[in-house]
Amino acid sequence: MIVCKSASELVRMRTANALVADVLGALEAMVLPGVTTLDLDAVAESLVREGGAEPAFKGYRGFPATVCASVNEEVVHGIPSKRLLKAGDIVSLDVGVLLDGFYGDSALTVPVGEISVAAAKLLSVTEQSLERAISAVRVGARVSDLGYAVQHYVEANGYSVVREFVGHGIGAKLHEEPQIPNYGQPGQGPRLAEGMVLAIEPMVNVGSATVKILKDDWTAVTSDGNLSAHFEHTVAVTAEGAEVLTRRSSESNHDGDNLSVTTTEHASMFTVLPES
Ligand code: MG
Ligand code: MG
Repeated sequence: MIVCKSASELVRMRTANALVADVLGALEAMVLPGVTTLDLDAVAESLVREGGAEPAFKGYRGFPATVCASVNEEVVHGIPSKRLLKAGDIVSLDVGVLLDGFYGDSALTVPVGEISVAAAKLLSVTEQSLERAISAVRVGARVSDLGYAVQHYVEANGYSVVREFVGHGIGAKLHEEPQIPNYGQPGQGPRLAEGMVLAIEPMVNVGSATVKILKDDWTAVTSDGNLSAHFEHTVAVTAEGAEVLTRRSSESNHDGDNLSVTTTEHASMFTVLPES
């Protein structure tokens, strides 16, 4: 069942998701050569708790951190470490919080110092594919319209869409129905209705779409070692279209605003597995 949120529940979801956006904005500004992903995680946890919230990922099935930090060929669910970020890296940062009974969830991939033209294009295409999906959000649209929008744009740019993880409904639970694959034909799946809240999160690979899980039982990496990027927004379906609840102040203007989760169980926590 897809849970539609009441107006008062949406108010609480706005607050939780605005906190996620603020935390990610702060982390984005911190990303520089020489910083470690553990440094980022410590700041994230402080900001989450100062905001009156709980980290949504920390302790969940043993995940040890507030942030999923995935560097270069890491796709999602990277564990923060003492690894020094270096110029030319890209790092995907995913943050979830629980505040006043509701979850927020968002992610972005950040360049470390100067990055290659190819890496910059990957980030741009992945972020734009998310915006394409957000633009497809409207009452009466079908869930698969979102994945179609992502896949069409990504593949037109020569990249591939990860299949092993999908977006998800979000609310009083971190992962609710529906699952939102980042691929597929349009016009399929449930119809979007006012009050639904969706975490849309394309993961895009430069090379093959396939991923594997490292021995830490969490980190998903591209099977061919090529770069991967991940952008995620939590979006409410409104009468006017999409309301992005996790928009960061650092993001440029978006027309859509206010207008219009391996094959292993444990790795499905923060980015949902598609139904088999
Ligand atoms: Mg996330
Ligand atoms: Mg998510």
